Amino acid sequence: MKEYISDPVFEKIAETAAAQGIDAYVIGGYVRDCLLNRPSKDIDIVVVGSGISLARKVAAALDRKIHVTVFKNFGTANFRYRNREIEFVGARKESYRHDSRKPVVEDGTLEDDQKRRDFTINALAISLNQADYGTLLDPFNGLADLKEKIIRTPLEPDTTFSDDPLRMVRAIRFATQLDFQIENTALESIARNIDRLNILSRERIADEMNKILLAQRPSKGFRLLESTGLLPLILPEVAALKGVESMEGRFHKDNFFHSIEVLDNICRHTDNLWLRWAALIHDIGKPVTKKYSPETGWTFHGHDFIGSKMVPELFKKMKLPLNEKMKYVQKLVLLHLRPIVLSQENITDSAVRRLLFEAGDDIDDLMTLCEADITSKNEELKKKYLANFSLVRQKLKELEEKDRIRNFEPPVSGNDIMETFGLGPCREVGTIKTAIKDAILDGIIANHPDEAYAFMLKMGEELGLKVRKIIVPGHNTDPETQEGDR
Ligand code: ATP
Ligand code: MG
Repeated sequence: MKEYISDPVFEKIAETAAAQGIDAYVIGGYVRDCLLNRPSKDIDIVVVGSGISLARKVAAALDRKIHVTVFKNFGTANFRYRNREIEFVGARKESYRHDSRKPVVEDGTLEDDQKRRDFTINALAISLNQADYGTLLDPFNGLADLKEKIIRTPLEPDTTFSDDPLRMVRAIRFATQLDFQIENTALESIARNIDRLNILSRERIADEMNKILLAQRPSKGFRLLESTGLLPLILPEVAALKGVESMEGRFHKDNFFHSIEVLDNICRHTDNLWLRWAALIHDIGKPVTKKYSPETGWTFHGHDFIGSKMVPELFKKMKLPLNEKMKYVQKLVLLHLRPIVLSQENITDSAVRRLLFEAGDDIDDLMTLCEADITSKNEELKKKYLANFSLVRQKLKELEEKDRIRNFEPPVSGNDIMETFGLGPCREVGTIKTAIKDAILDGIIANHPDEAYAFMLKMGEELGLKVRKIIVPGHNTDPETQEGDR
């Protein structure tokens, strides 16, 4: 295992620990990822003794300027060195109370510490001690589980999961990230212990959900969340998508399996976490809008609108950001049917411009979502839909080049209108502004100040307004009103 600890930082840790007469080991994710040939990130060091004191000494030996962050309560300390986070912790023995994730902690041996790790593949340690430098210490056969791609708990699964229920979600997260199988008794244990989830903070769960969403094929994680019964507790809106109903022998598709297929599809085209969220929840408005009538069969009218209204609540509950990320997801959910409608009709320039105007810079992501949304098993149909979308994309590109609608700024501002007709803020100003915007989107005039100004003068005449002053549009002298008006 020496090849994995060739970085000089390990030598420094070993030297310092030896000088203190204490034992230290590399443990956990770093060891696992080395053995899997995955890029390894942070380094975790477990010390049979004080982690904090060793961290301070190692940092001082590496570079006096390093700042060590200490968490006295947890008995841990960490610092950054050459773009790596190195964390030190004293080996611990833990016992848990039923109502909390916070254990009662005592000092322990390396093996005590390995026992309280979540999975055998995360309990692997490499010795940094003179006697057995570079030896793999693997009391729970984690290496074999790595080779067989198995997620297994070091102790009885009921103990491991009930002690810290976050491990249930972590099991599913690792199974998804690494494409491993959760060992059967562990899987059954998760299903038995789902109620323990309520002692976890939403932030912790959201963290794991984001990691599942960022995996190569997140559908695996969502199938597991669903089959264990965790999904309704975490994302009831997504769980509600599951199931097919039939009326008069007519079925609708299972929208849960559809949604996670869309999610997998989009993962082939983007690493953007929020676009992935949008793919997962784009249909959450379906269960409440579902209707059957003998004439039209199953419909979900307005599920785009209803779904977009559900997004803020979902984000709030999940403790996801409520800023522009949420608005972005909301917008994509709201608009996800629009390109489909466009592709089914004879595409008019006007409809394409309106979509460009509403989607703005997110138009490409919206198109990516729509293409991922095609999950038909009929290859001919799929080809046809994709060809239609490529036509929409082409049209979008042409019109954007011509009219620059994407970041539409009205070429004539409210101030321009007020100055020209000698008006204060009033309804007419709004009417004229909207008319100019519509005229541009409908292709009646070009997105150009001169044409818009001429159009405005004509509108004013129709409304019986008198021209007080001819100005150059877009050149207001008062910067404050100009800003506020746009
Ligand atoms: P990654 O950093 O890719 O998420 P990791 O395995 O390094 O994976 P961390 O959360 O960084 O995960 O934790 C480091 C190590 O600490 C793990 O490998 C595991 O041994 C242990 N660990 C972390 N969280 C828990 C937990 N909830 N219960 C038991 N052991 C845990
Ligand atoms: Mg880690």
